[in-house]
Amino acid sequence: MTTVDAHKETLGFQTEVKQVLDLMIHSLYSNKEIFLREIISNASDAAEKLRFEALSDDGLYEGDAELKIWIDLDANARTLTIRDNGIGMSREEVIENIGTIAKSGTQQFFKNLTGDKAKDSLLIGQFGVGFYSTFIVADKVTLRTRRAGLEASHGVCWESEGDGQFTIENIERPQRGTEIVLHLRADEDEFLQDYRLRSVVKKYSDHITLPIILPKITEDEESKEKVIEDEVVNSATALWTRTKAEISDEQYTEFYKHVAHDFEEPLTHIHNKVEGTQEYTVLLFIPKRAPFDLWDRTNRRGVKLYVRRVFIMDDNEQLMPPYLRFVRGIIDSSDLPLNVSREILQHNKQIDAIRAGTVKKVLSALEGLAKNEPEKYETFWQEFGKVMKEGVIDDHANRERIAKLLRFSTTHDDNSKPLVSLEDYVSRMKEGQDKIYYITAESFAAAKNSPHLEIFRKKGIEVILLSDQVDEWLVTHLNEFDGKTLQSVTKGQLDLGEMESEEDKQEVEKASTELKPLIERLQTALVEKVKEVRLTYRLTNSPACLVADEHGMDASLERLLKAAGQNLGAGSKPILEVNPHHPLIVALKAEADETQFADWAYILFDQALLSEGGQLDDPASFVTRLNAMLVKQATA
Ligand code: ADP
Repeated sequence: MTTVDAHKETLGFQTEVKQVLDLMIHSLYSNKEIFLREIISNASDAAEKLRFEALSDDGLYEGDAELKIWIDLDANARTLTIRDNGIGMSREEVIENIGTIAKSGTQQFFKNLTGDKAKDSLLIGQFGVGFYSTFIVADKVTLRTRRAGLEASHGVCWESEGDGQFTIENIERPQRGTEIVLHLRADEDEFLQDYRLRSVVKKYSDHITLPIILPKITEDEESKEKVIEDEVVNSATALWTRTKAEISDEQYTEFYKHVAHDFEEPLTHIHNKVEGTQEYTVLLFIPKRAPFDLWDRTNRRGVKLYVRRVFIMDDNEQLMPPYLRFVRGIIDSSDLPLNVSREILQHNKQIDAIRAGTVKKVLSALEGLAKNEPEKYETFWQEFGKVMKEGVIDDHANRERIAKLLRFSTTHDDNSKPLVSLEDYVSRMKEGQDKIYYITAESFAAAKNSPHLEIFRKKGIEVILLSDQVDEWLVTHLNEFDGKTLQSVTKGQLDLGEMESEEDKQEVEKASTELKPLIERLQTALVEKVKEVRLTYRLTNSPACLVADEHGMDASLERLLKAAGQNLGAGSKPILEVNPHHPLIVALKAEADETQFADWAYILFDQALLSEGGQLDDPASFVTRLNAMLVKQATA
C-alpha cells in the first residue's frame, strides 16, 4: 500500500467567515437544531450532484449507486457523525467551499452590518448559514471526504475549532462521499439523546428524497442480545410528486428551507402539476425577505431543474426571467432528456415553454396574494417591488399583468407606503381626466414636496410619486395603462384638458400680455441656463419651477444618467416657468437695475432647481447673491 503524502496545512479563514461564525452563534443560539437541517441538506445536494454527473459517467458510482445518508451518535465520545455517499470533494474544493465565502455580494452584506449583534442577527438569515452552523453546537468539526472518481489516496481531512483557522491534509479514504464529525460542546447534551436526535432528524428529512438512516438498537427475543439495525427514518420520496392533500404546511416549509437555504418560512408556495404538450411539476416559493444578493442579477441560485426527479442544475437564467430571481423551488420535467446540458437548454423550445408557463403561474400566485391576502402582498411588495418593476421593462409579453401588480405611493394619501395600484388610480380619476400623472424625483420627500404638484393638489388630481431609481426606466416602458397615457407632471406645457377652468386660461392670457416685458427680460438674463421662460398656472405657492421639453428627458432621469457616467441628456436646457401671482414675480417687474435684476433671475432659477432635488452648478455664487439680497433687506 502506498502511503499518502499528508501535505498538512494550516490555513486561515477569511476574516468574514469569523464574523459570520460569531453572528451565527449569537443569533441562532435558541434554534440550534437547524445545523442538522443544513448538513442533511448539503448531503442531499451532494447525492444529487453525483446522480447528475453519473448520467454521463457511470463509473462515478464505483459500483454503489444506492445513495444514502447515515447519522450516528457516540455518547461516550460526544460525537455526532453525518455521512453521505454523494459526490464528495477534492482538496481544492474543500478549501474553496469550506472556509471561504465565495458568494457574490458578500462584500455588500458585510457593509450592511452595523456591529449591533441584535440587529445584525436578523441579517444572517438573508445570508444563509450553511456548513458553519455546525459550530453552534460543536467546538471542533472534522470533515473527511473523497470526490467520486478519485483514487482512495485522494481523500481529504479538514478540521477546525471554528476559531479562525483550519487544517487540511490528504488521507487514504476508500469510501467516496463526505463524513462530518461534530465534537459536541461540553454543554450540548441534547443531541446525544437518541429520541431527541431521531425527532429532529425526522423533522428535517421528510422532504429529502434519499433514505436517511439512523441505527436502532433492539433486543433479540431469544438470545436477549442487543442488535443494531439500520432504520430509515424518512419517507424518501420527492415531496413534489405527492398530492397537495398529502403534504402538510410544515413539510412545505421544511422543503423550502432546504431548497432556498433560508431559515425563515416562505411567504407563499405554488404547487402545480402541468399536463398537456409538456408535462412538468412546479413547486415554487416566494420568500418573506429579500436575500442580501437580490441586486445581483446574475445570481444563479433560485429554481432547480429536475428531469424525472433527477437533479439537473440550478440555473436561474434559463428557468426564470431576472425580474423573478427571488423565486425559489424546483421544476421537474417529464419530457426533457436526462442528458440535457446548459448549452442545450439555452436554445430549447421545451424549456422556453416551461419558463413561459412557470412565469404565468408565478404571476397568478401574486395576483391571488394581492387579491386575497393584501397584507402578505404588502410584505412582498416592500421586499421585491423594485425587482418586479424590472418586469415591466423586460417582459413584454406579460407587461400588462405586471403593471397591474405594481404598487405606488401617490398624493391620494400621505402615507409613504406604496399601496396604490394603477387600477385604484384609474378608478379615482377626475371627470375629464384622461391621463395618469406621475412625478419622478431622487427621493420620496423631493417627489412629495415638489412645486410641480401644487396645482394638482389644489384641483384634487392624484399624482403618482416615484422615487426608486428603476422608476425612471419603468416610465419609459410603461407608456399607458388601461388606455390612459402616463404623463410626467414635470414635462411639457401643463395641459389639464377639460379640467382646466376657463378662468385659469383667461387669467394666464391676461397675465401673459401684462408680464410680457418681464418674461423677455428674464429670458435675456438666463439665456445661458434655460431654453425658454414662460408663465404657468401650475404653481400656487412657489415662484418658479423647471420643466423639461415635451420630447426632452426628465431632469431626474438626466441626473441619473449623469451619475451613471452617461452624459446622454446633458445639454438639453430646461424651461423656467414662473407663477404670475407670486409676490416675488410681481415685485420683480419694478426692478429697474439690470444687474440686480440678473441676480434675481439667477436666484429664481437656482431655487427652482434646488426644490426639485437638483444640484447647482455653482453653489457659491448662489449663496453670494442670496446673501447680498438678505443684507439689503436687513439693512433697508
Ligand atoms: P451552501 O450549502 O449554502 O452553499 P455551505 O456552507 O453549507 O453553503 O456549503 C458550502 C459548499 O460546500 C456547498 O455548496 C458544497 O459545494 C460543499 N459541501 C458542503 N457539504 C458537502 C457534502 N456533504 N458533500 C459535498 N460537498 C459539500
